[in-house]
Amino acid sequence: MSPSPMTSAPRALPGHPHLARRDTDLWLEGVRLDDLARAHGTPLFVYSKAAMLSALGAYQRGFAGRQATIHYAMKANSSLAILQLFARAGCGFDIVSGGELERVLAAGGQAAKVIFSGVGKTRAEMRRALEAGIGCFNVESESELEVLSEVALACGQIAPVSIRVNPNVDAKTHPYISTGLKGNKFGVAHERTLQTYQRAASLPGLKVVGIDCHIGSQITDGAPYLDAMDRVLELVQAIEAQGIRLQHLDFGGGLGIDYNGDQPPAADALWAQLLARLDARGFGDRHLMVEPGRSLVGNAGVCLTEVLYLKPGEQRNFCIVDAAMNDLPRPAMYQAFHGIEPLQQGASRTTRYDVVGPVCESGDWLGRDRDLAVQPGDRLAVLSAGAYCMSMSSNYNTRGRAAEVLVDGDQAHLIRQRDSVADQLRNERLVG
Ligand SMILES: *Cc1c(COP(=O)(O)O)cnc(C)c1O
Repeated sequence: MSPSPMTSAPRALPGHPHLARRDTDLWLEGVRLDDLARAHGTPLFVYSKAAMLSALGAYQRGFAGRQATIHYAMKANSSLAILQLFARAGCGFDIVSGGELERVLAAGGQAAKVIFSGVGKTRAEMRRALEAGIGCFNVESESELEVLSEVALACGQIAPVSIRVNPNVDAKTHPYISTGLKGNKFGVAHERTLQTYQRAASLPGLKVVGIDCHIGSQITDGAPYLDAMDRVLELVQAIEAQGIRLQHLDFGGGLGIDYNGDQPPAADALWAQLLARLDARGFGDRHLMVEPGRSLVGNAGVCLTEVLYLKPGEQRNFCIVDAAMNDLPRPAMYQAFHGIEPLQQGASRTTRYDVVGPVCESGDWLGRDRDLAVQPGDRLAVLSAGAYCMSMSSNYNTRGRAAEVLVDGDQAHLIRQRDSVADQLRNERLVG
Protein backbone atom coordinates (compact mmCIF):
# COMPACT_ATOMS: atom_id res chain seq x y z
CA MET A 1 0.00 0.00 0.00
CA SER A 2 1.52 3.30 -0.99
CA PRO A 3 1.67 6.06 1.59
CA SER A 4 -0.46 9.03 0.68
CA PRO A 5 0.95 12.56 0.71
CA MET A 6 0.81 14.03 4.18
CA THR A 7 0.00 17.57 5.01
CA SER A 8 0.52 17.43 8.76
CA ALA A 9 2.82 15.44 11.03
CA PRO A 10 1.43 12.08 12.23
CA ARG A 11 0.02 12.24 15.75
CA ALA A 12 0.58 9.05 17.80
CA LEU A 13 -2.36 8.02 19.96
CA PRO A 14 -1.54 8.22 23.68
CA GLY A 15 -0.47 4.79 24.92
CA HIS A 16 -0.28 3.47 21.34
CA PRO A 17 3.03 4.65 19.90
CA HIS A 18 2.63 2.64 16.67
CA LEU A 19 -0.87 3.89 15.98
CA ALA A 20 -1.08 7.40 14.58
CA ARG A 21 -3.48 9.80 12.96
CA ARG A 22 -2.13 11.26 9.75
CA ASP A 23 -4.46 14.00 8.62
CA THR A 24 -7.88 12.36 8.96
CA ASP A 25 -6.78 8.72 8.76
CA LEU A 26 -5.64 6.19 11.32
CA TRP A 27 -2.43 4.30 10.49
CA LEU A 28 -0.72 1.36 12.17
CA GLU A 29 2.99 1.62 11.44
CA GLY A 30 3.15 2.32 7.69
CA VAL A 31 -0.29 1.00 6.77
CA ARG A 32 -3.54 2.93 6.49
CA LEU A 33 -6.08 0.89 8.45
CA ASP A 34 -9.02 1.78 6.24
CA ASP A 35 -7.17 0.23 3.29
CA LEU A 36 -6.87 -3.04 5.23
CA ALA A 37 -10.55 -2.99 6.18
CA ARG A 38 -11.48 -2.54 2.50
CA ALA A 39 -9.10 -5.27 1.34
CA HIS A 40 -9.97 -7.90 3.95
CA GLY A 41 -13.41 -6.96 5.27
CA THR A 42 -14.46 -6.49 8.89
CA PRO A 43 -14.28 -7.44 11.70
CA LEU A 44 -10.52 -7.62 11.25
CA PHE A 45 -7.77 -7.84 13.83
CA VAL A 46 -4.59 -5.99 12.91
CA TYR A 47 -1.35 -6.26 14.87
CA SER A 48 1.86 -4.24 14.77
CA LYS A 49 5.03 -6.31 14.76
CA ALA A 50 7.06 -3.30 15.90
CA ALA A 51 4.74 -2.75 18.87
CA MET A 52 5.16 -6.36 20.01
CA LEU A 53 8.92 -6.30 19.62
CA SER A 54 9.16 -3.00 21.43
CA ALA A 55 7.07 -4.36 24.34
CA LEU A 56 9.33 -7.41 24.43
CA GLY A 57 12.37 -5.12 24.25
CA ALA A 58 11.39 -3.49 27.55
CA TYR A 59 11.58 -6.89 29.28
CA GLN A 60 14.82 -7.77 27.48
CA ARG A 61 16.39 -4.48 28.61
CA GLY A 62 15.14 -5.09 32.13
CA PHE A 63 16.95 -8.45 32.23
CA ALA A 64 20.10 -7.43 30.35
CA GLY A 65 23.15 -9.14 31.89
CA ARG A 66 20.99 -11.57 33.89
CA GLN A 67 20.29 -15.24 33.48
CA ALA A 68 16.68 -14.86 32.52
CA THR A 69 14.08 -16.21 30.11
CA ILE A 70 10.88 -14.60 28.97
CA HIS A 71 8.05 -17.08 28.49
CA TYR A 72 5.28 -15.47 26.49
CA ALA A 73 1.95 -16.46 28.09
CA MET A 74 0.38 -17.41 24.81
CA LYS A 75 -3.22 -17.60 25.95
CA ALA A 76 -3.21 -13.80 25.49
CA ASN A 77 -2.91 -14.30 21.73
CA SER A 78 -2.01 -17.71 20.37
CA SER A 79 -2.16 -17.11 16.62
CA LEU A 80 0.66 -19.03 14.93
CA ALA A 81 2.36 -16.05 13.30
CA ILE A 82 2.44 -14.23 16.66
CA LEU A 83 4.05 -17.27 18.30
CA GLN A 84 6.52 -17.49 15.42
CA LEU A 85 7.46 -13.84 15.96
CA PHE A 86 8.13 -14.37 19.68
CA ALA A 87 9.96 -17.67 19.10
CA ARG A 88 12.26 -15.96 16.60
CA ALA A 89 12.84 -13.16 19.10
CA GLY A 90 14.16 -15.75 21.58
CA CYS A 91 11.11 -16.23 23.81
CA GLY A 92 9.96 -19.38 25.45
CA PHE A 93 6.24 -19.95 26.09
CA ASP A 94 3.94 -20.39 29.04
CA ILE A 95 1.17 -22.79 28.03
CA VAL A 96 -2.04 -23.86 29.75
CA SER A 97 -3.16 -26.79 27.58
CA GLY A 98 -1.94 -29.55 25.30
CA GLY A 99 -3.43 -27.66 22.38
CA GLU A 100 -1.21 -24.69 23.14
CA LEU A 101 1.85 -26.97 23.12
CA GLU A 102 0.95 -28.15 19.61
CA ARG A 103 0.63 -24.51 18.54
CA VAL A 104 4.13 -23.73 19.87
CA LEU A 105 5.58 -26.67 17.96
CA ALA A 106 3.65 -25.77 14.79
CA ALA A 107 5.01 -22.21 15.01
CA GLY A 108 8.63 -23.40 15.29
CA GLY A 109 9.03 -22.87 19.06
CA GLN A 110 11.24 -25.15 21.16
CA ALA A 111 9.61 -27.55 23.61
CA ALA A 112 12.54 -27.15 26.00
CA LYS A 113 11.58 -23.50 26.45
CA VAL A 114 7.96 -24.31 27.29
CA ILE A 115 6.54 -24.21 30.80
CA PHE A 116 3.14 -25.76 31.43
CA SER A 117 0.82 -23.91 33.85
CA GLY A 118 -2.80 -24.54 34.80
CA VAL A 119 -4.77 -26.25 37.57
CA GLY A 120 -6.26 -29.05 35.46
CA LYS A 121 -3.67 -30.80 33.32
CA THR A 122 -4.88 -34.19 32.11
CA ARG A 123 -2.72 -37.33 32.00
CA ALA A 124 -2.78 -37.23 28.21
CA GLU A 125 -1.51 -33.64 28.24
CA MET A 126 1.24 -34.59 30.70
CA ARG A 127 2.33 -37.56 28.57
CA ARG A 128 2.48 -35.47 25.41
CA ALA A 129 4.42 -32.69 27.15
CA LEU A 130 6.96 -35.19 28.53
CA GLU A 131 7.34 -36.84 25.15
CA ALA A 132 7.94 -33.43 23.55
CA GLY A 133 10.52 -32.60 26.24
CA ILE A 134 9.05 -29.45 27.80
CA GLY A 135 11.16 -27.38 30.18
CA CYS A 136 8.99 -27.44 33.29
CA PHE A 137 5.58 -28.27 34.70
CA ASN A 138 4.21 -25.54 36.95
CA VAL A 139 2.24 -27.74 39.33
CA GLU A 140 -0.72 -26.31 41.23
CA SER A 141 -1.74 -29.02 43.72
CA GLU A 142 -0.51 -32.06 45.64
CA SER A 143 -2.79 -34.39 43.74
CA GLU A 144 -1.36 -33.10 40.47
CA LEU A 145 2.14 -33.91 41.78
CA GLU A 146 1.15 -37.52 42.45
CA VAL A 147 -0.39 -37.96 39.02
CA LEU A 148 2.52 -36.31 37.22
CA SER A 149 5.02 -38.55 39.00
CA GLU A 150 3.03 -41.65 37.99
CA VAL A 151 2.70 -40.52 34.38
CA ALA A 152 6.40 -39.68 34.16
CA LEU A 153 7.47 -43.07 35.54
CA ALA A 154 5.15 -44.83 33.12
CA CYS A 155 6.86 -42.91 30.29
CA GLY A 156 10.31 -43.78 31.68
CA GLN A 157 10.99 -40.13 32.43
CA ILE A 158 11.56 -37.72 35.29
CA ALA A 159 9.33 -34.63 35.09
CA PRO A 160 10.92 -31.25 35.90
CA VAL A 161 8.58 -29.39 38.28
CA SER A 162 8.07 -26.03 39.83
CA ILE A 163 5.28 -25.45 42.33
CA ARG A 164 3.01 -22.50 41.90
CA VAL A 165 2.64 -20.82 45.24
CA ASN A 166 -0.16 -18.51 46.17
CA PRO A 167 1.56 -15.61 47.93
CA ASN A 168 -1.76 -14.22 49.21
CA VAL A 169 -1.20 -10.67 47.98
CA ASP A 170 -3.86 -8.41 46.55
CA ALA A 171 -3.02 -7.45 42.98
CA LYS A 172 -5.80 -4.81 43.15
CA THR A 173 -7.26 -5.78 39.82
CA HIS A 174 -10.64 -7.10 38.63
CA PRO A 175 -11.69 -10.07 40.83
CA TYR A 176 -11.95 -12.36 37.76
CA ILE A 177 -8.32 -11.69 36.88
CA SER A 178 -6.87 -11.68 40.39
CA THR A 179 -5.18 -15.00 41.12
CA GLY A 180 -2.82 -14.52 44.06
CA LEU A 181 -5.30 -14.21 46.91
CA LYS A 182 -6.41 -16.87 49.37
CA GLY A 183 -9.70 -18.33 48.29
CA ASN A 184 -9.06 -18.59 44.58
CA LYS A 185 -8.31 -21.80 42.76
CA PHE A 186 -4.73 -21.08 41.75
CA GLY A 187 -1.51 -22.32 43.29
CA VAL A 188 -0.65 -23.98 46.58
CA ALA A 189 -1.57 -22.10 49.76
CA HIS A 190 1.34 -20.25 51.31
CA GLU A 191 1.20 -22.27 54.54
CA ARG A 192 1.22 -25.61 52.69
CA THR A 193 4.15 -24.78 50.45
CA LEU A 194 6.90 -26.49 52.49
CA GLN A 195 4.95 -29.70 52.84
CA THR A 196 4.15 -29.71 49.15
CA TYR A 197 7.81 -29.26 48.23
CA GLN A 198 8.77 -32.11 50.55
CA ARG A 199 6.17 -34.31 48.91
CA ALA A 200 7.46 -33.34 45.44
CA ALA A 201 11.05 -34.09 46.42
CA SER A 202 10.03 -37.53 47.69
CA LEU A 203 8.20 -38.62 44.53
CA PRO A 204 10.32 -40.80 42.25
CA GLY A 205 9.04 -39.42 38.94
CA LEU A 206 9.74 -35.76 39.71
CA LYS A 207 12.72 -33.45 39.86
CA VAL A 208 12.14 -30.15 41.64
CA VAL A 209 13.67 -27.32 39.61
CA GLY A 210 11.93 -24.11 40.62
CA ILE A 211 9.19 -22.07 42.19
CA ASP A 212 6.60 -19.86 40.53
CA CYS A 213 3.81 -17.45 41.28
CA HIS A 214 1.41 -15.38 39.22
CA ILE A 215 -0.69 -12.93 41.18
CA GLY A 216 -3.16 -11.64 38.63
CA SER A 217 -3.56 -9.68 35.46
CA GLN A 218 -3.81 -6.05 34.35
CA ILE A 219 -1.72 -5.01 37.37
CA THR A 220 -0.92 -1.31 37.16
CA ASP A 221 1.09 -0.89 40.35
CA GLY A 222 4.53 -2.31 41.22
CA ALA A 223 3.77 -2.80 44.93
CA PRO A 224 1.96 -6.17 44.66
CA TYR A 225 4.95 -7.54 42.73
CA LEU A 226 7.34 -6.41 45.45
CA ASP A 227 5.10 -7.96 48.11
CA ALA A 228 4.84 -11.21 46.16
CA MET A 229 8.59 -11.31 45.66
CA ASP A 230 9.20 -10.89 49.40
CA ARG A 231 6.76 -13.68 50.19
CA VAL A 232 8.23 -16.00 47.55
CA LEU A 233 11.82 -15.38 48.68
CA GLU A 234 10.88 -16.22 52.27
CA LEU A 235 9.54 -19.51 50.95
CA VAL A 236 12.67 -20.13 48.88
CA GLN A 237 14.78 -19.79 52.01
CA ALA A 238 12.57 -22.16 53.94
CA ILE A 239 12.49 -24.72 51.11
CA GLU A 240 16.24 -24.64 50.59
CA ALA A 241 16.79 -25.03 54.34
CA GLN A 242 15.16 -28.47 53.83
CA GLY A 243 17.86 -29.36 51.31
CA ILE A 244 15.71 -28.79 48.21
CA ARG A 245 17.59 -26.57 45.80
CA LEU A 246 15.62 -24.28 43.46
CA GLN A 247 17.37 -23.50 40.19
CA HIS A 248 14.86 -21.02 38.90
CA LEU A 249 12.53 -18.39 40.27
CA ASP A 250 9.51 -17.58 38.11
CA PHE A 251 7.54 -14.44 38.93
CA GLY A 252 4.71 -14.96 36.45
CA GLY A 253 3.09 -12.32 34.28
CA GLY A 254 0.30 -9.87 34.92
CA LEU A 255 1.74 -6.48 34.06
CA GLY A 256 -1.04 -4.23 32.83
CA ILE A 257 -1.40 -2.00 29.80
CA ASP A 258 -2.94 1.41 29.17
CA TYR A 259 -6.57 0.79 28.20
CA ASN A 260 -8.03 4.06 29.42
CA GLY A 261 -5.32 6.26 30.86
CA ASP A 262 -3.98 3.44 33.05
CA GLN A 263 -0.35 3.97 34.00
CA PRO A 264 1.33 0.64 34.63
CA PRO A 265 5.07 0.77 35.26
CA ALA A 266 7.24 0.04 32.20
CA ALA A 267 8.60 -3.51 32.28
CA ASP A 268 12.23 -2.36 32.44
CA ALA A 269 11.55 0.08 35.28
CA LEU A 270 9.55 -2.48 37.25
CA TRP A 271 12.26 -5.09 36.83
CA ALA A 272 15.03 -2.69 37.82
CA GLN A 273 13.15 -2.31 41.11
CA LEU A 274 12.48 -6.02 41.51
CA LEU A 275 16.05 -7.00 40.64
CA ALA A 276 17.42 -4.57 43.21
CA ARG A 277 15.23 -6.31 45.80
CA LEU A 278 16.38 -9.72 44.58
CA ASP A 279 20.05 -8.71 44.73
CA ALA A 280 19.64 -7.23 48.19
CA ARG A 281 18.25 -10.52 49.41
CA GLY A 282 21.06 -12.55 47.81
CA PHE A 283 19.05 -14.24 45.05
CA GLY A 284 20.22 -12.14 42.10
CA ASP A 285 22.27 -14.97 40.60
CA ARG A 286 19.34 -17.36 40.12
CA HIS A 287 17.82 -18.16 36.77
CA LEU A 288 14.84 -15.83 36.50
CA MET A 289 11.71 -16.45 34.53
CA VAL A 290 8.69 -14.32 33.74
CA GLU A 291 5.43 -15.12 31.96
CA PRO A 292 4.08 -11.91 30.43
CA GLY A 293 1.06 -12.10 28.14
CA ARG A 294 -1.07 -8.97 27.90
CA SER A 295 1.83 -6.53 28.24
CA LEU A 296 3.54 -8.01 25.14
CA VAL A 297 0.58 -7.94 22.75
CA GLY A 298 -2.36 -5.98 24.18
CA ASN A 299 -1.65 -2.56 22.77
CA ALA A 300 -0.10 -3.96 19.60
CA GLY A 301 -3.51 -4.84 18.18
CA VAL A 302 -6.74 -3.21 17.03
CA CYS A 303 -10.00 -4.69 15.82
CA LEU A 304 -11.52 -2.96 12.82
CA THR A 305 -15.28 -2.88 12.52
CA GLU A 306 -17.89 -1.22 10.30
CA VAL A 307 -20.86 0.82 11.48
CA LEU A 308 -24.00 -0.97 10.27
CA TYR A 309 -26.78 1.19 11.73
CA LEU A 310 -27.32 4.15 13.99
CA LYS A 311 -30.33 3.75 16.23
CA PRO A 312 -31.27 6.85 18.18
CA GLY A 313 -33.28 6.27 21.34
CA GLU A 314 -34.94 8.21 24.12
CA GLN A 315 -32.41 7.14 26.73
CA ARG A 316 -29.49 5.95 24.69
CA ASN A 317 -28.29 6.07 21.12
CA PHE A 318 -26.90 2.87 19.70
CA CYS A 319 -24.13 2.56 17.18
CA ILE A 320 -24.50 -0.98 15.84
CA VAL A 321 -21.28 -2.39 14.41
CA ASP A 322 -20.31 -5.67 12.76
CA ALA A 323 -17.93 -6.78 15.56
CA ALA A 324 -19.45 -8.31 18.66
CA MET A 325 -18.85 -10.02 21.98
CA ASN A 326 -17.84 -13.19 20.15
CA ASP A 327 -14.90 -11.23 18.67
CA LEU A 328 -14.20 -8.94 21.65
CA PRO A 329 -15.41 -10.70 24.80
CA ARG A 330 -13.71 -8.49 27.37
CA PRO A 331 -16.41 -5.83 27.81
CA ALA A 332 -19.11 -8.52 28.28
CA MET A 333 -16.91 -10.61 30.62
CA TYR A 334 -15.17 -7.97 32.72
CA GLN A 335 -16.96 -4.71 31.85
CA ALA A 336 -13.61 -3.85 30.31
CA PHE A 337 -12.90 -0.57 28.54
CA HIS A 338 -11.51 -0.45 25.01
CA GLY A 339 -10.85 2.84 23.25
CA ILE A 340 -12.82 3.29 20.01
CA GLU A 341 -11.54 5.51 17.20
CA PRO A 342 -12.92 6.22 13.73
CA LEU A 343 -10.57 5.09 10.96
CA GLN A 344 -11.33 8.32 9.13
CA GLN A 345 -12.42 11.52 10.77
CA GLY A 346 -15.38 12.82 8.79
CA ALA A 347 -17.79 15.70 8.95
CA SER A 348 -20.61 13.92 10.80
CA ARG A 349 -22.09 15.41 13.95
CA THR A 350 -20.71 14.08 17.24
CA THR A 351 -23.26 12.07 19.19
CA ARG A 352 -23.00 9.96 22.33
CA TYR A 353 -23.47 6.26 21.56
CA ASP A 354 -23.36 2.86 23.11
CA VAL A 355 -21.36 0.86 20.60
CA VAL A 356 -22.95 -2.59 20.35
CA GLY A 357 -22.66 -5.71 18.23
CA PRO A 358 -25.27 -7.82 16.44
CA VAL A 359 -25.25 -10.72 18.94
CA CYS A 360 -28.54 -11.47 20.68
CA GLU A 361 -27.40 -10.61 24.23
CA SER A 362 -27.76 -7.37 26.16
CA GLY A 363 -24.18 -7.94 27.29
CA ASP A 364 -23.05 -7.55 23.70
CA TRP A 365 -21.56 -4.08 23.89
CA LEU A 366 -18.07 -2.87 23.02
CA GLY A 367 -18.17 0.60 24.53
CA ARG A 368 -20.63 2.75 26.45
CA ASP A 369 -21.23 6.50 26.28
CA ARG A 370 -18.77 7.15 23.48
CA ASP A 371 -18.78 10.45 21.62
CA LEU A 372 -18.44 9.57 17.98
CA ALA A 373 -18.94 11.41 14.71
CA VAL A 374 -19.99 8.53 12.49
CA GLN A 375 -22.51 7.35 9.96
CA PRO A 376 -23.38 3.90 8.61
CA GLY A 377 -20.56 2.55 6.44
CA ASP A 378 -17.86 4.31 8.47
CA ARG A 379 -15.27 2.11 10.07
CA LEU A 380 -13.90 2.13 13.60
CA ALA A 381 -10.88 0.70 15.38
CA VAL A 382 -11.42 -0.93 18.76
CA LEU A 383 -8.10 -0.32 20.51
CA SER A 384 -6.01 -2.50 22.84
CA ALA A 385 -7.36 -5.58 21.09
CA GLY A 386 -4.14 -7.59 20.84
CA ALA A 387 -4.62 -9.57 24.08
CA TYR A 388 -7.50 -11.78 25.21
CA CYS A 389 -9.66 -10.92 22.22
CA MET A 390 -8.99 -13.23 19.26
CA SER A 391 -7.79 -15.97 21.62
CA MET A 392 -11.07 -15.73 23.58
CA SER A 393 -13.27 -15.34 20.53
CA SER A 394 -16.00 -17.83 19.71
CA ASN A 395 -18.48 -18.77 17.03
CA TYR A 396 -21.50 -17.75 19.13
CA ASN A 397 -24.49 -16.95 16.91
CA THR A 398 -22.65 -18.93 14.17
CA ARG A 399 -20.51 -15.92 13.50
CA GLY A 400 -17.26 -16.76 11.78
CA ARG A 401 -14.18 -15.76 13.71
CA ALA A 402 -12.46 -12.68 12.32
CA ALA A 403 -9.45 -12.57 10.02
CA GLU A 404 -6.08 -11.33 11.29
CA VAL A 405 -3.35 -9.24 9.68
CA LEU A 406 0.19 -8.64 10.90
CA VAL A 407 1.67 -5.29 9.89
CA ASP A 408 5.43 -4.94 9.51
CA GLY A 409 6.44 -1.44 8.36
CA ASP A 410 4.45 -0.80 5.19
CA GLN A 411 3.79 -4.52 4.64
CA ALA A 412 0.60 -6.29 5.69
CA HIS A 413 0.47 -10.10 5.99
CA LEU A 414 -2.81 -11.97 6.29
CA ILE A 415 -2.07 -14.42 9.13
CA ARG A 416 -5.54 -15.91 9.55
CA GLN A 417 -8.39 -16.21 7.12
CA ARG A 418 -11.88 -15.41 8.28
CA ASP A 419 -13.83 -18.57 9.27
CA SER A 420 -16.19 -19.71 6.57
CA VAL A 421 -19.55 -21.23 7.44
CA ALA A 422 -18.12 -24.53 6.15
CA ASP A 423 -15.30 -24.22 8.72
CA GLN A 424 -17.91 -23.94 11.42
CA LEU A 425 -20.02 -26.90 10.28
CA ARG A 426 -17.12 -29.22 9.50
CA ASN A 427 -17.17 -31.33 12.67
CA GLU A 428 -20.90 -31.66 13.05
CA ARG A 429 -23.06 -34.59 12.00
CA LEU A 430 -26.76 -35.04 11.46
CA VAL A 431 -28.34 -38.08 13.07
CA GLY A 432 -29.39 -41.21 11.11
C1 LIG B 1 -2.53 -15.77 32.14
C2 LIG B 1 -1.26 -16.11 32.79
C3 LIG B 1 -0.12 -15.35 32.58
C4 LIG B 1 -0.12 -14.07 31.77
O1 LIG B 1 -0.87 -13.07 32.35
P1 LIG B 1 -0.88 -11.60 31.71
O2 LIG B 1 -1.73 -10.82 32.62
O3 LIG B 1 -1.47 -11.73 30.35
O4 LIG B 1 0.52 -11.14 31.66
C5 LIG B 1 1.06 -15.76 33.15
N1 LIG B 1 1.12 -16.88 33.92
C6 LIG B 1 0.04 -17.64 34.14
C7 LIG B 1 0.17 -18.86 34.99
C8 LIG B 1 -1.18 -17.29 33.60
O5 LIG B 1 -2.26 -18.04 33.85
